[in-house]
Amino acid sequence: MKKRFTQITAKSSTTSFVEVNINRLRENARALIGKSGPGVKSMAVVKSNAYGHGAALVAHALNGHVYALGVATVEEGITLRNSGVITPILVFAPVDRTTVNDYKTYNLVAVAGSYEELKMLSASVSFHLEFDTGMGRLGFDPEQWPQILGTIREKELRPSGIMTHFATADKAGSGKAQEQLRRFQKLLDEMGEWKDNKIIHAANSGAVLHYPGAAFDLVRFGISLYGFAPDPVEEMEELKPVLSWKTRVAACKPIKKGETVSYEANWTAPHDGWLIVIPVGYSDGIRRGLSNRIKMNVRGMRLPQVGSITMDYTMLFSDVAVETGEIVSILGEDAMQADEWARILDTITYEILCGIHPKIERMPAAPKD
Ligand SMILES: *Cc1c(COP(=O)(O)O)cnc(C)c1O
Repeated sequence: MKKRFTQITAKSSTTSFVEVNINRLRENARALIGKSGPGVKSMAVVKSNAYGHGAALVAHALNGHVYALGVATVEEGITLRNSGVITPILVFAPVDRTTVNDYKTYNLVAVAGSYEELKMLSASVSFHLEFDTGMGRLGFDPEQWPQILGTIREKELRPSGIMTHFATADKAGSGKAQEQLRRFQKLLDEMGEWKDNKIIHAANSGAVLHYPGAAFDLVRFGISLYGFAPDPVEEMEELKPVLSWKTRVAACKPIKKGETVSYEANWTAPHDGWLIVIPVGYSDGIRRGLSNRIKMNVRGMRLPQVGSITMDYTMLFSDVAVETGEIVSILGEDAMQADEWARILDTITYEILCGIHPKIERMPAAPKD
């Protein structure tokens, strides 16, 4: 007889948890909508588990606060629908044979950026046309507009939106962004009246913040909704981070001056103190490159992380002992912020947030006064 194994995860999901401040999330959405200009619709981008914040949690929190949601894949859209989300959902991924029927079933709006995709669509599928004005990724070449229009008419398709995506809107004054905007505008001019009942959109967070002329009918904000600028060196006053990642002390023990901590023994206690062990490591998303370079918060103390971060455990050094089970702030709130981690790692804040493992539970933060 075959031996059967039960599926186990490496650790219980309760070893750490992500809290999302719902009020702040809504305030960020409101501030971004305010920046976009009167009458402009809003799309909250919730791909990749809402940049690590928990897609269903964020989508439900923003119900009635945004016009639409944006996801990367049909699968993400289906997950949201199955969790009871009723907000319109736009799926950025190219239309694919394996998913083409799901748009109707789950009431998702497709994005098409090639003839191949148009061929798979029918009059009953709602979709937006994507144009590559310089991003160099997905979308039609705007020069092809007459032929695209021919195909749409031939197949009696009914696109409901027209979009493009910026490559360099993260910084103000980008010539490339201006050029993309110019190309998009030229295309829209060429479309004439045809575009009149379509939703036109181009702006990501960078464009909302730096290119007010790019708002058109709808803005698609992602990183800024979560309180961060697209560029990790940029400060943002109005928008506030909403995520805090926490765990509990797994062990606390005395450490003597001269003793080393963790693999590679690359940290040595400068004096007698206490070693705090937390049950979260690089498998959870605390990148190993952060070893010996960050601080976490326990009982209001900002403590240095010491020694190499390991797969399932990370160590802190403290002058005072703490109790097993005490709350530790890993990231956000009274610990460091995701953009600080990003700067240390020479990456972008997006990558830090998406790197918080989906296995970790996401929950609304308890409301504070
Ligand atoms: C991810 C994404 C966005 C959001 O980008 P941010 O920089 O996070 O605001 C907008 N539009 C598309 C097509 C995207 O893929």
